[in-house]
Amino acid sequence: MSVLVVGSIALDDIKTPLEEHRELLGGSASYGCVAASFYSPVNLVGIVGEDFPNEHVELFKRRDVDLAGLQIAPGKTFRWSGEYMWDLNIRETRSVELNVFEHFTPALPEAYRDTPIVLLANIAPDLQHHVLDQVRIPRFVIADTMDLWINIARRRLVELLARVHLLILNDGEARQLTGETSLIKAARKLRDMGPQYVAVKKGEHGCLLFGEDGQFFSCPAYPLEDIHDPTGAGDTFAGGLAGYLARDGAEVEFSALRRAVVHGSVLASYNVEAFSLERLKTVTSTQIAERYEMFRRLSQFDAG
Ligand code: AMP
Repeated sequence: MSVLVVGSIALDDIKTPLEEHRELLGGSASYGCVAASFYSPVNLVGIVGEDFPNEHVELFKRRDVDLAGLQIAPGKTFRWSGEYMWDLNIRETRSVELNVFEHFTPALPEAYRDTPIVLLANIAPDLQHHVLDQVRIPRFVIADTMDLWINIARRRLVELLARVHLLILNDGEARQLTGETSLIKAARKLRDMGPQYVAVKKGEHGCLLFGEDGQFFSCPAYPLEDIHDPTGAGDTFAGGLAGYLARDGAEVEFSALRRAVVHGSVLASYNVEAFSLERLKTVTSTQIAERYEMFRRLSQFDAG
């Protein structure tokens, strides 16, 4: 099965306490589609400007991403700039330039409209709705979001929740959207708003997965010594998760979602080892399998 990925494709300027890089490939869809491509065919929906370097298009092609849904429009690519503090969990957005995103109306190529797994990576909820409207009968819909949309497009985001099977968000966003400090209560409230499943990411502390009837899974974080750039960890997580579900091919059940969450975490853990998508360019299937096994061992303990 394939995955449809819609989201932002960006040129990012990133500053960490130790390094600063400009004009890097970024965007939720870039990370999402490359991560998903390790598991399944991917249909990308997005927009870039005429300034978008061809080497990034070549990367998508090398990963066999279908680019029929990629628009190249007159104007400049979406640009985002962020700065990380010494605590890499804390990030400030320095600037955002919507550019070609301002007038983006995604039109799905006919061949995309039957894609079974849909990843609505982080973009404006209106655009997420618009893409979902064009998919005929999606089997499993995953949505990611960010604090910005909770602040400025809450109503549309809440409407979207009724249309998705799995919502992915970080702990701060879960609290912000529900007004609950307890993540358990927040996840319950979010599930009451529509999604059958909720995945709450906790940055370098792993991820919690909530399902029906108290189904619960806690995925550890991989103990990485050196994190170079946390940008896109969440998008990579979502892409790996979606790609794994597509490869699995079966009706999505909690047991498959647990494995999918671990696969997403494995890819995210590789992604943060280098800036932009540099690490995703070189990681191999063998390395992914090795780290998946490490995650399995990390979570295992005896009955005592
Ligand atoms: P993450 O680190 O998972 O939050 O994702 C970072 C990526 O999100 C960066 O590569 C940005 O280009 C992209 N991004 C930042 N702000 C937005 C936004 N408002 N809409 C869509 N994508 C964004």
